[in-house]
Amino acid sequence: MTLQTNVSQAGRSFKLYASRLENLGITTLEDFLWHLPSRYEDYSVVSKIADAQVGETVTVQGTVMDIKNQYLSRGRIKSMQKVLITDNTGTMQLTWYNQPYLTKNITNSTTISASGQVRQSGRFLTMTAPTYEIFYTAATSSIHTARLIPIYPETHGVTSKWLRRQIYNLLEQYKDELVEYLPEELLNQNHFMTIPEALQTIHFPANLEIAEKARARLAFDEFFLMQLSVLKRKQTWKTKQTTVPYAIDKHRKEIDTVVASLPFQLTGAQTRAIDDILTDFAKDKPMNRLVQGDVGSGKTVIAAIAMYAAHLSDYQSVLMAPTQILANQHYKSIKQLLEPFGVGVELVTGTSKFSALSSPFSILIGTHAVLSEKVTFEKLGLVIIDEQQRFGVEQRGIIKQKGKNPHLLTMTATPIPRTVALTMYGDLDLSYLNEMPKGRKKVITWVVPPEKRDGAYGWIRKQIQETDSQVFIVCPFIEPSESMSTVKAVKHEYERLQKEIFPDIKVGLLHGKLKAKEKDDVLLAFKEKKFDILVATPVVEVGIDIPNATIIMIEGSERFGLAGLHQLRGRVGRGDKQSYCLLFTDSKSALNSQRLKGMETIYSGAELAELDLKLRGPGNLYGTAQHGIPKLKVASFSDAELIQKARHVAQEIFPQLATYPKLEEKVALVTTKIISPD
Ligand code: ADP
Ligand code: MG
Repeated sequence: MTLQTNVSQAGRSFKLYASRLENLGITTLEDFLWHLPSRYEDYSVVSKIADAQVGETVTVQGTVMDIKNQYLSRGRIKSMQKVLITDNTGTMQLTWYNQPYLTKNITNSTTISASGQVRQSGRFLTMTAPTYEIFYTAATSSIHTARLIPIYPETHGVTSKWLRRQIYNLLEQYKDELVEYLPEELLNQNHFMTIPEALQTIHFPANLEIAEKARARLAFDEFFLMQLSVLKRKQTWKTKQTTVPYAIDKHRKEIDTVVASLPFQLTGAQTRAIDDILTDFAKDKPMNRLVQGDVGSGKTVIAAIAMYAAHLSDYQSVLMAPTQILANQHYKSIKQLLEPFGVGVELVTGTSKFSALSSPFSILIGTHAVLSEKVTFEKLGLVIIDEQQRFGVEQRGIIKQKGKNPHLLTMTATPIPRTVALTMYGDLDLSYLNEMPKGRKKVITWVVPPEKRDGAYGWIRKQIQETDSQVFIVCPFIEPSESMSTVKAVKHEYERLQKEIFPDIKVGLLHGKLKAKEKDDVLLAFKEKKFDILVATPVVEVGIDIPNATIIMIEGSERFGLAGLHQLRGRVGRGDKQSYCLLFTDSKSALNSQRLKGMETIYSGAELAELDLKLRGPGNLYGTAQHGIPKLKVASFSDAELIQKARHVAQEIFPQLATYPKLEEKVALVTTKIISPD
């Protein structure tokens, strides 16, 4: 066995855990070592029992004098384990609940070490449910007590204690397999610990300062390796075949005419993005550009103009969107804009017939159905991927294969800070939409506690009746995806609202299990104001555009990531009317209310993502949705300084990468793990 061995092949005890460990991102033995503590518990003060002060958190060590296993019939406490220990200075009573197996391991005269808070009960000093370990021999070193104890991200059935034991053993066993890959000069210049040292230290540090030093080294590596791999990709892209430049100047007037036909004026940011794209088109290398703009910043029209420019040079375009609803919506708006100018626009979603494509078309819009082998192009010049974070690398690869070096335009509302984009997508060109269309008002946002629910319903009714507003009511997913139980819950809520709360107002229902045509009909009816309230699952999250809807009410809002809530909130506030977002929550947790309160004052997707990052940790940065940004293990995307440094060092070293074979090997490993929009 080596560190690369798969967990499921690494012996029986591991095998049982394999699927649970996968939840934690652990698939090989090495992954254990990179499963880093989220914090430490300080049990480093070892005290004689006689010196232990009530209220203090300490470690005591002694021999077992007496042990009792009492069975009770008191509610949730079924049994109680009482262990009396002595260390020659005094005795202490250790108590556990519901752990009858404990008395199998601990017997009279066992030496144990226990860490926890000291309390007094009658004449006894006690500890309740202490962290403990048994010293089988005098030479046993402590892992779970008497030191700084690493606490890990856990998952169902995998405790920190179990992880700690495995990591401790693996570090012992595979010490020699952990090799340093950074050049020595680099280590020296930066006063970095070596890799074996850093990994050992971050799991089992002597103190917090040294743990921080280990973390700094590992965080640097994370960005540094990523950056090197991006530089490598960029080099590869440069050597790619060339394409035929589009005759942009020749068609400038026609493009301007379409822009002038829009019902609004483009923002400066939109104009700049379009110029960026047209400039790329005029070159002989395929474009690889990411347009990033917050919800509602107007990305669709940029895609439309780009496709029109391709059409003028006799190239076909394809626009791929993550949902049928969105594909339909794009199809309608783009057809409406471009058909008058003689552009053939077609739609392919899972349910539509491919035979419809026999007519010549310039623009194809669709869901992942466009990936089907049956969909072919005569001359595909431009591939656009909307909400690119929703697609996997493979899907992006397949669609590109349908043309010969087509230009690639990806669009996302995922708030990627510029530093992050540079690190992750250093090989891409970026257009930032840092400006919202004129006249947009901030969506007034309130967190609504249970006692204000009725009042809120009353207010919504008044808004509908007096200001002609339309309302989204969003129910959360019950399970990670749109399962039947979610659909059941949303149907139930729909009936309740229609019958009990709003009997005099027409309510509609939208969920992901409806057929494409049904979804489309519901949205169309809502757009045409055939009803005033739309009860929906988060299927409305991505991209849906109903400018007249001005209120969105979100149930169970604590279940969403802030970036997800921000996306939902972006469904309103699209016209010039004042809009509102009501976040309903029954959660009493202080953390949740702090998170949700953030929505009341913060309106930038990037800032909200940062807040979530701070409050909930990186795993939840972009909610449960796929996001196309790798989870960082150590570093934080908010650490701009470190990103800069890693970038700088990577750029310096890259030209000589071949002279550092170990580093080169490591970079190759990282590259296969990074998801990139190209
Ligand atoms: P997103 O960037 O979230 O994809 P959309 O492309 O769906 O945004 O645009 C949101 C709404 O704003 C649409 O109704 C669109 O017609 C409108 N819109 C786009 N650009 C402008 C603009 N420059 N001025 C006013 N409205 C605009
Ligand atoms: Mg969009």
